[in-house]
Amino acid sequence: MPQFLDTSIEYLKGIGPQKADTLKKELGIFTYGDLLNHFPFRYVDRSHIYKIGELKGDFAHIQVKGRFSSFTTEGEKQTKRLKALFTDGTGFMEVVWFKGINWIEKYVRPGKEYVLFGKPNEFMGKLNIVHPELEDAAEFLAEGNAGFQPVYSTTELLKRKGLDSRGIMRAIKLLMSDRAFKMEEILPPDILSEFKLIGRHTAFQHIHFPTNDNDQRKAQFRLKFEELFFLQLKMLRIRGMRRKDVPGIIFSKVGHYFNAFYNDVLPFDLTNAQKRVIKEIRQDMGSGKQMNRLLQGDVGSGKTVVGFMCMLIAIDNGTQACMMAPTEILAQQHYNNIRKFAEDLGLNTALLTGSTPQKARKEMLAALENGSLHILVGTHALIEDKVKFNNLGLTIIDEQHRFGVQQRAKLWNKSLSMPHVLVMTATPIPRTLAMTVYGDLDTSIIDEMPVGRKPINTAHRYDSNRLRVFGFIEEEIAKGRQAYIVYPLIEESEKLDYKNLMDGFESVTRAFPTPKYQVSIVHGQMKPDAKEFEMQRFKRGETQIMVATTVIEVGVDVPNASVMVIESAERFGLSQLHQLRGRVGRGAEQSYCILMTSHKLSHDARKRLETMVRTTNGFEIAEVDLQLRGPGDIEGVRQSGIADLKLTDLSTDKELVTIARHAAEKLIEADMYLQLPQHRPLLHYLQSRRKDGVNWSRVS
Ligand code: ADP
Ligand code: MG
Repeated sequence: MPQFLDTSIEYLKGIGPQKADTLKKELGIFTYGDLLNHFPFRYVDRSHIYKIGELKGDFAHIQVKGRFSSFTTEGEKQTKRLKALFTDGTGFMEVVWFKGINWIEKYVRPGKEYVLFGKPNEFMGKLNIVHPELEDAAEFLAEGNAGFQPVYSTTELLKRKGLDSRGIMRAIKLLMSDRAFKMEEILPPDILSEFKLIGRHTAFQHIHFPTNDNDQRKAQFRLKFEELFFLQLKMLRIRGMRRKDVPGIIFSKVGHYFNAFYNDVLPFDLTNAQKRVIKEIRQDMGSGKQMNRLLQGDVGSGKTVVGFMCMLIAIDNGTQACMMAPTEILAQQHYNNIRKFAEDLGLNTALLTGSTPQKARKEMLAALENGSLHILVGTHALIEDKVKFNNLGLTIIDEQHRFGVQQRAKLWNKSLSMPHVLVMTATPIPRTLAMTVYGDLDTSIIDEMPVGRKPINTAHRYDSNRLRVFGFIEEEIAKGRQAYIVYPLIEESEKLDYKNLMDGFESVTRAFPTPKYQVSIVHGQMKPDAKEFEMQRFKRGETQIMVATTVIEVGVDVPNASVMVIESAERFGLSQLHQLRGRVGRGAEQSYCILMTSHKLSHDARKRLETMVRTTNGFEIAEVDLQLRGPGDIEGVRQSGIADLKLTDLSTDKELVTIARHAAEKLIEADMYLQLPQHRPLLHYLQSRRKDGVNWSRVS
């Protein structure tokens, strides 16, 4: 590959070892190539120089050229400011500095020509501008800067060393003027022409220094396509290799346990969607290849039952099954549900978590190894080295997006032969995101709710109405129902949150006094036993109200609960709110979700609350969530390859994701090993990106 791009950044003129060190630490820029891949995050149009005399009204950023006169300082210490008059002959403008006054006084000279860039204000008929960007006019124009200008992200430390956005721009400009600078084309010609992509070299030039909007858009399109395309190739390559090379245990039959469960134990009819999904999974598990499937479905759509029935297929074929959940409480919940069914069928199950006592753990692991234990449920304790299966056939990972990709891989390798893997997410994720984060998995979707579910009624109420809300809870309890009241708990403000929770608990017990009412409380600082005890009391209906932090967020299943009150709802994210709401509406009764907030709400918070009130569709909610938060904040995303996406915004570039996916599919289908001559440059490029962790060499 081109040596130029691999040259260490310290050799660039004006950088040197010290700045290079800071660039590495602060921005991960080691080489020339890295610097060229540090793309602008926006551009400013500095092609136009305005006349001060013509400026009127509401201003965006403007640029003027002129001279300073009469510098004066006003105020002292904290309030000290420097003011100057600036004129271009057509009018005057006052310029104000609160910071960096010494520097301005020392270097800025009256009478010399400057270019100012900033956002002016009008005050009492006079124009003023605060802390404008300031350039020596002669230098600015000579450098050819008066056009479309890139703006680069940088850090305080780098700024102090002269590498502000402008400094970075200069460095990139210098690099690009080097005779050795050349970005080789790596995409095959048919893809370039099919998607009307500009060449790679031009794309790099225009992403940094576009001369107009159109150039910039084309460069961006090309480079976004490229990064998505590479990511999809990587995913599809992993999938393709597995399909081709990883043998799977063949589950050839549906046997005694599955049939007994289906005919005698299962208390309801499966939905058509559940049946379809089970069929898809059965096909995978009978194919002779390892299954790697993502099961998506809304909260309450019945993923767990599907998962359990797949476990039975594994057991019917003489293997063991396990299920891993992200929290102890959820693992416990799954265990309770599964054990109930499994015992009816005469199957052995066990629960393994961080708090399983040594003795029980020993026995459990022995039974696991000799094969007498059929099903093991647990937390990430399952991936410890000591846990060895006799013959693991199926691994189910619930709410997987909380596990890192590495953890997933570890579970893959628990047994001599590769177990089949089924990943279930807690809430739906948008399609484009699934395609990207879980692009190496096949997907099944349960898009239908069990019959008889009434959509949950959701309302937003202000704190000032709490008494009315309590009144409503009272009515529901009088009808024999139960209620959750949930408080936020985030690590940063844990102490305060606990205080709120405890205060809340007290006011609830005051409003719902014993002996008429019993109130449970569950939070993360309780011992697992104590939590479990309270959960069971609530589940049995011995307590009518469950006051809790988000420990109940996932998995708790009490069909008789019909009210979910979420306190300080503005502090929860959308998917969390949706998860919590999914705890009610599981029985046949009409259920309610009440979102309590103060009057002070941010724009985003309002949008979240509106969305919750408007819809109960998890896929729709997931889309809004992605728009509001961007993909970076969605759990699990950061560990996945999409952290490498520099230009693409998954919340807005949805179409491009699909396009790149199809293009990658076509290519992998035609030439999985990239052996055709027109795919050689691509192969070499991908091989040079070692950190991808995908082996592109042909090994078989
Ligand atoms: P999910 O894991 O998708 O959130 P669960 O599997 O926990 O949903 O199911 C939610 C509730 O609905 C459970 O009480 C489950 O027993 C019940 N359930 C699942 N499938 C059906 C069905 N087809 N008909 C009626 N109830 C169902
Ligand atoms: Mg579930």
